[in-house]
Amino acid sequence: MKFNTKTIHGGQKNDPAYGSVMPPIYQTSTYAQSTPGGHKGYEYSRTHNPTRNALENAFASIENGNYGMAFGSGLAAIDAVLKLLQPGDEVVSTNDLYGGSYRLFTKIYKDFGIKFHFVGMENADNIEGYINENTKLIWVETPTNPMMNIIDIKTIAEVTKRKSVLLAVDNTFATPYLQRPLDLGADIVMHSATKYIGGHSDLVMGALVVKDQDLANRLYFIQNASGAICGPQDSFLALRGIKTLHVRMQRHCENGKAVAEYLTKHPKIEKVYWPGFESHPNHEIAKSQMSDFGGMVSFVAKGNNYEEAIKIVENLKVFTLAESLGGVESLAGHPASMTHASIPKEEREKTGVVDALIRLSVGIEDKVDLIADLRQAIG
Ligand SMILES: *Cc1c(COP(=O)(O)O)cnc(C)c1O
Repeated sequence: MKFNTKTIHGGQKNDPAYGSVMPPIYQTSTYAQSTPGGHKGYEYSRTHNPTRNALENAFASIENGNYGMAFGSGLAAIDAVLKLLQPGDEVVSTNDLYGGSYRLFTKIYKDFGIKFHFVGMENADNIEGYINENTKLIWVETPTNPMMNIIDIKTIAEVTKRKSVLLAVDNTFATPYLQRPLDLGADIVMHSATKYIGGHSDLVMGALVVKDQDLANRLYFIQNASGAICGPQDSFLALRGIKTLHVRMQRHCENGKAVAEYLTKHPKIEKVYWPGFESHPNHEIAKSQMSDFGGMVSFVAKGNNYEEAIKIVENLKVFTLAESLGGVESLAGHPASMTHASIPKEEREKTGVVDALIRLSVGIEDKVDLIADLRQAIG
């Protein structure tokens, strides 16, 4: 089945009770048993719920995996992956990553005796020097947030296979429409389904997808034992979101390109970060592992001035100044004070997240209106 069919049908079947085409929202915590243990596969909704299962099967299908898991947030999904580890284990992580992931690693799991190395992975060989006998997990985010660095998943996967280390990829920015990490050799794909998968800025959710059965069983155990699941209503909304993922992404990419090209030509703009530019240092890798370049664009205005950046984001009218990304509506963010405020300034600036950086999540409105809005806001 092709991707654009999988989003609509993958892993899904009509509901057996009445043939409803969309799975019903099974808003229930428990299920009647005829005799102790005499149930129809469902006992308690933390463990299994039919609406959530329909969504989990769809996640598995669109990422070309075998097993999907849905969580109450993207961070809950990352948390479940980290629970595969033991004190003394080490993790090698992308250095430019979602601020909340960095906070979870350094403020929670570090205290549980797990050691994290934050490494620039634009050159995939950089990770080798950080891998030792305690290394259990490589955590990759690509394109990175918010600097749009591109990391070569296939080359990293060759290293992790050779060293028997798990490779997890946060695929939130790219979505499986653009990039399928399991096909490139990753063991775990993670999503903040809050973003493009849900696609309508109306839910908070996380996902994991894996191919390997043993790994899936360990993660299902953690999902049930720790209990950070999502509810049936949100599962229904995410499933509905997936059905239009391919058409939305097509437009996000088209508008993202138009906005990135507009900004690079603007005399008041100094730098634009978007992997579709031939001048992007890893443009060739982006071209080989992604089918297009996505709708995320970051930029810095000339003079690298904090007040100027704040003025631009305040002036925007069609773009909404807000946290988050990936919805149908265009959003603008100021990473240093918003999404990445939890990363210390020196750490942030090392990776390019300067005080003047603005991040755009380019939505699916008419690009003429988006560009006009940027024109008036930049002035
Ligand atoms: C938002 C985000 C997360 C965290 O997901 P939540 O759903 O907000 O918990 C993780 N990674 C990336 C890349 C994100 O954008």
